[in-house]
Amino acid sequence: MPKTVDFTLPVNEAKKVVEKVLRMKGCDKENARAVTDVMIRVEIDGCVFHGLFRLPGYIASLESGKVNGSARPDIKHLLPSVLRVDGNGGFAPLVLEEVRPVLIQAAQTHGIVAASLINTHHFAALWCEVEPLAEAGLCALACTNYLPAVAPFGGRRPFFGTNPMAFGWPREGKPPFVFDQASAAMARGDLMLAAKANETVPDGIGLDQNGQQTTDPSEILNGGVMLPFGRHKGSSIAIMVELLTAGLCGAPFSHEAAAADNGDGGPPKGGEFILAIDPSKFGDPNWLAHSDSFFEELSGLHGVRLPGSRRHTRRGETDMITFSLAQDLAREL
Ligand code: NDP
Repeated sequence: MPKTVDFTLPVNEAKKVVEKVLRMKGCDKENARAVTDVMIRVEIDGCVFHGLFRLPGYIASLESGKVNGSARPDIKHLLPSVLRVDGNGGFAPLVLEEVRPVLIQAAQTHGIVAASLINTHHFAALWCEVEPLAEAGLCALACTNYLPAVAPFGGRRPFFGTNPMAFGWPREGKPPFVFDQASAAMARGDLMLAAKANETVPDGIGLDQNGQQTTDPSEILNGGVMLPFGRHKGSSIAIMVELLTAGLCGAPFSHEAAAADNGDGGPPKGGEFILAIDPSKFGDPNWLAHSDSFFEELSGLHGVRLPGSRRHTRRGETDMITFSLAQDLAREL
């Protein structure tokens, strides 16, 4: 393991350092800013495994030349409510930033819009794309595939990506309702934490290298495989994500992405499917108050909390960010 230097900095200082690192490694100004913004937003919400923990992966993919740090997306309307977005081999954050206003305008005009993103490298949490759409008053769904990490139900070898899917719904005077979940039974980050702490995980999370059920997270991570959540049901959701991302958009399926990837540890080339709906165009003038009364009922139930609420509660709890940089890189700053 290369030696690292730890930094604990106020948010704005951390941003400056991370942007500088990304620019040193080949990102242009706009891509460095967009990638940094996403990592910092995720850190602020306490989702550390998709925050600055990912910086070495972003760096590796710039160093290997897999990702074009100066790419700009091409956004085409195939139909008034169908967008095709070519990321031209760049990171997803700038692509998502540029497509967002186009999606919002098209959804507000036509009631519904779908976007297929291709030729882009996604390494972040998906709530970052649906939450701003929901804040703009839209219902939004996004999904993406990845490299094979999860066995289909009944199988023993990685085939699906961790295949996350996020959904957002606007609320009046409150942060939007957002869930964002992988199709795997447990977050890879949580598995890594459990392995580090020598803890066991529940049955149904993964198999060892011989395809046997194990509760030892190290066996799952080292040569084993994760399982989908909810047995065959999660497996079907993972298939749907593969089909929306690759079958529909024309990005690689997870097993194809693995074959094409250079193994640098950064995000593979892939795609993403995004759907945005303007509920105010669907005929119920009371939709916002009606759905809000549903959320009130739901969150008032004993023992129940809304997905996304932990993240929203954490937001802004700290104004300091902690991260590590390789020692050589830290010296160059
Ligand atoms: P979690 O299992 O931690 O959380 C999934 C969702 O469930 C969140 O919306 C969470 O809300 C909610 N939730 C958790 N506990 C409860 C509870 N007790 N009651 C109600 N809701 C709850 O995350 P995953 O491991 O499934 O996903 C991790 C992240 O990884 C996602 O952000 C995903 O986008 C990202 N990812 C990205 C990939 C990529 O290729 N870019 C690949 C795979 C995953 P809350 O946040 O409030 O806890």
